[in-house]
Amino acid sequence: MSLPEKIETRLFINGEVQSSNGKTFDITNPATLQHVAKVHEASEEDTDRAVAAAKAAFPSWSALSPEERGGYFKKLAALIRESNDHLSALEAAAMGKPVTEFFDGFASAGRWDYYAEAGRNVQGTTSLQTPGFINMTLRQPYGVVAAILPWNVPLLFFAKKVCPALIVGNTVVLKSSEKAPLTSAYVATLVQKAGFPPGVLNIITGFGNVSGSILSNHMDVRALSFTGSGRTGRIIQAAAAKSNLKQVYLELGGKSPAVIFDDADIEKAAHETAHSIQTNSGQVCMANSRVYVQDTIADKFIGLFKDAFTSIAMGDPFEKNVNHGPQADEVQHKTVMRYLEMGKQSGDLLVGGGPPSDRKGYYIQPTIFTNTAEDATVMKEEIFGPVVNINVFKTEEEVLAKANNSEYGLYAAVYTKNIDRAMRFAKGLEAGTVGVNCTSPMTGLDMPFGGYKSSGSGREGEPFHSIENFLETKTLIPG
Ligand code: NAD
Repeated sequence: MSLPEKIETRLFINGEVQSSNGKTFDITNPATLQHVAKVHEASEEDTDRAVAAAKAAFPSWSALSPEERGGYFKKLAALIRESNDHLSALEAAAMGKPVTEFFDGFASAGRWDYYAEAGRNVQGTTSLQTPGFINMTLRQPYGVVAAILPWNVPLLFFAKKVCPALIVGNTVVLKSSEKAPLTSAYVATLVQKAGFPPGVLNIITGFGNVSGSILSNHMDVRALSFTGSGRTGRIIQAAAAKSNLKQVYLELGGKSPAVIFDDADIEKAAHETAHSIQTNSGQVCMANSRVYVQDTIADKFIGLFKDAFTSIAMGDPFEKNVNHGPQADEVQHKTVMRYLEMGKQSGDLLVGGGPPSDRKGYYIQPTIFTNTAEDATVMKEEIFGPVVNINVFKTEEEVLAKANNSEYGLYAAVYTKNIDRAMRFAKGLEAGTVGVNCTSPMTGLDMPFGGYKSSGSGREGEPFHSIENFLETKTLIPG
């Protein structure tokens, strides 16, 4: 699938695709370093207008039945499915995601369809416990909700945040990431085609310190759902505290451990853990970037892991046989390079360690460090690249402590055929999601996803938690 030579994306405010009030910025293909698109940047005033449009649309949108709101969702889901190839090409060009790895379009459409039905299940409670009164609770939408996206799987996070907020009657301003804004901007045109009433869903592109900051500080935004780095999550949480104490839900980073015991299916474990850290060139929040293998099988496991990790086809994200694209942009590339230099000081480099010599884009070779010091920066901080540390352990007690020795707690995996140990170990792991004899599959539509510790607050993904995030509870006491 080829893209038009000149792509220019605009803002979507109050049902209209419109030019920004200020500047534009450029998107460069990280594989070829060629110009891809000119993107209109939302100014402070544009962002304010988007919030005002969402506020104005709230009374009539929240007055619709869930079935009426869901009708728009179904139309949009169908349009996203029809556009899957185009969306895939946009993401490949903007952030280097191989078209073979692109699942985001169908995953996103599936959520729009799923949530189209989920709004019917919102219920309050009644109570007869106060003599002389029939008390009840009403569940009501907040009003204007903001959604701020990362760049690594934009369309999926778009749906995860926007669907539960909209279906229960909130209106939304969504800000995409400045690194991968093209698919969100394209979906804006589909939202318009699906006939959503003006102002219900506003989609803007821009930078965190301008439009992101306006949304986080805005007095008319009552809830904000964010996926991104811990650093930004803290800024947003502080802005919410300083402005109107808006509800904030944070899906943040990870430094996920995978633990391989000596009774595991070693081939399966090696193949899956290698795939986990390779997917999207390591730019996945739940990628197992720390792997612990029991000493008795260490040599065999590391050999199999290395074979699987280094045999992945690196190349142009548009090519059908390619699974490993470049890092998303120059900044991301430089960040990974910095960590590689640190890794060489704190562990043994087994393979990789820098960019491939035969490519000009922002590529990094699959890199394995072994014997890395547990307190090294590369064991503590999220690298977000195809870089793994494999360390050896002897006992279950020792490796549980090491696996949990992280401020992050997003995801963890354990491989063992001993069911008692699997359950005991999974219970002990400090992580919001744990894979037993599997790692980093996408969680189902009906399962919550979120982090322990500094990997975030709140859960999203399935209707119960996600819809709860966007509803107030009013206690009604009729006299
Ligand atoms: P980032 O924090 O740099 O940016 C995320 C978004 O925040 C962007 O839209 C950006 O413009 C905006 N932003 C930046 N500064 C802001 C500010 N001051 N105020 C408001 N908004 C601001 O993160 P990223 O590099 O886009 O994404 C990668 C990170 O996201 C990684 O840490 C990854 O682990 C995490 N992530 C987490 C999950 C999850 O489900 N837990 C999923 C995907 C990615």
